[in-house]
Amino acid sequence: MKGLIFDIKRYAIHDGPGIRLTVFFKGCPLSCWWCHNPESRSPRPERLIKTVRIGEKEFQREETVGRQYSVSEVMELVERERIFMEQSGGGVTFSGGEPLMQAPFLLALLQACQEQGIHTAVDTSGIASRAAFRRIIPYTDLFLFDLKHLNDQKHRLYTGASNRLILENFRMIADSGVDIWARVPVIPGYNDEEEQLERLHRFLRENRRDNIRQLNLLPYHPIDAKYGRCGIEWKMGQLEPPSRERMATLQQFFADTGIKALIGG
Ligand code: SF4
Repeated sequence: MKGLIFDIKRYAIHDGPGIRLTVFFKGCPLSCWWCHNPESRSPRPERLIKTVRIGEKEFQREETVGRQYSVSEVMELVERERIFMEQSGGGVTFSGGEPLMQAPFLLALLQACQEQGIHTAVDTSGIASRAAFRRIIPYTDLFLFDLKHLNDQKHRLYTGASNRLILENFRMIADSGVDIWARVPVIPGYNDEEEQLERLHRFLRENRRDNIRQLNLLPYHPIDAKYGRCGIEWKMGQLEPPSRERMATLQQFFADTGIKALIGG
């Protein structure tokens, strides 16, 4: 079995506990305006122009983004990193794009990791069928689960899809007992208005479970240059990242949900 991967990052420290190998699946059903990986959206390999900087000089070269990997090829790379994973309490994170868009390949990798005693995390937008989530839950140690907007209309506008299935899947995983890190991008003027924050606060309180280990508040930062080379319109303009003070205020706001709120991660 093969799957389309667009990047594999070694020594990742923000994609779950410890030092991790992060495997980026290509293809995503959403099209978030602020997405950091626009090259992940298309479920096909693409020829893109990449700028490489060496000292003061910049060079442009064309490269293919996305290539087919077999399960054993990925597992070979995982094995090479085992020492770092074991010593740091790390593991493998499957990210994207949306890894559940290639659910059979993801399942096979999760099963292979479990057989080898390797900790697994799935970084998901939450948009996939309930059946697909049910199949992977027994082989997943941790979900990094994005909550982008609680207002359905705005979720549709900024991501291209309803949040209904996402919220249902979050509840299902919370009830399953598997660990979750809820991840909320903080985008000034887009999803940090009072009504949205109140709704999110209520949602987290209502779905509070011991297995929801933390809430990561991820400050927005712009990456418009990547969009040009992907031929995708950058809709965020010159939006500035939220200030440290604003992030600290939000951290404080979520403190009484009973879920540990962290900035970044
Ligand atoms: S779900 Fe993630 S990968 Fe997909 S478009 Fe949104 S930010 Fe990008």
